[in-house]
Amino acid sequence: MAEKLDPIYVVEWEEGADDCWAISDKSGFATHLFQMNEDADKDALYCKHCRRRFAGKERDHVGFHMNKIHPQIRHGMTYNEYLKEFSPVYMPNAHGSEKTMERSFSLALRTYVLCPERSPEVLYFDDVATIIYDKFPKSEQHLLILPRSHKTSNSHPNELSSDIKSQIEWHIDWAKRFCWAQFVKTFDVKDALMSKELFVSNFIQAGIHSIPSMANTHIHVMTKDFHSERLKNKKHFNSFNSPFFVPWENIPSFERRNEDNVMEKFIKNYDLKCPYCSLNFKNQFAKLKVHLADEFDKRFERKTDR
Ligand SMILES: [Zn+2]
Ligand SMILES: [Zn+2]
Ligand SMILES: [Zn+2]
Ligand SMILES: [Zn+2]
Repeated sequence: MAEKLDPIYVVEWEEGADDCWAISDKSGFATHLFQMNEDADKDALYCKHCRRRFAGKERDHVGFHMNKIHPQIRHGMTYNEYLKEFSPVYMPNAHGSEKTMERSFSLALRTYVLCPERSPEVLYFDDVATIIYDKFPKSEQHLLILPRSHKTSNSHPNELSSDIKSQIEWHIDWAKRFCWAQFVKTFDVKDALMSKELFVSNFIQAGIHSIPSMANTHIHVMTKDFHSERLKNKKHFNSFNSPFFVPWENIPSFERRNEDNVMEKFIKNYDLKCPYCSLNFKNQFAKLKVHLADEFDKRFERKTDR
């Protein structure tokens, strides 16, 4: 049980390791920056957290960088205050391409990983993971589990080790039970034989996308009704109903998948099949949508306020 957790907060600057100047810039994040002796451009600034370099005009983007890439740093918080509050671990070369991706939508989950306590929509968090609703739910219940360790969050989810997996198992279970509880708050289940245990094991799935659209590792936990306004095209459906979706049980999966092939094979050219009865709709998404609504109404009924 007392497993050591990988750190959430890492810095790439070590006290005394580089010659460092006090910096006066207008961003208000000066104590989080340093300059390097060996840099030919004497005006270039570096981020102590990720070593992103800011030269010339980019120096104006320091505040933007901090907000997007290190949202846990509050405005006006000095580097020393940061060390005290977050106890980051020194880890050289910890950051990859994400440090220059300030403008990318694919980093939208980052803030839930780094400062879940500041987001009222967070359903649950601890040192291991954060749990939120997917903002674009493809089923009645659709949650995301975000592992928080820096390393796990920034690796491909297919590479989750069995150690990390066992830490997150509890959160998967929590999310499944939460999905069930929320679902039965809204809908009556017509089949009296559909117990909570059956519902959770047969009607809820957990897993990842072969090619995730968001940079931070996240695991989808969702009901399998696909009864949602947000489900608008074949890609949406097949990304959860073909081998493009890797079930939690099958991770890590080291199958090498060429990016183009995966999209062609499992999204574009994969037949649409009803998750309830396996009826094949080939390419007819509109017909599948009507059928999914029928299947849903056969089994569930929206509760009325009485
Ligand atoms: Zn940085
Ligand atoms: Zn990072
Ligand atoms: Zn996803
Ligand atoms: Zn069906």
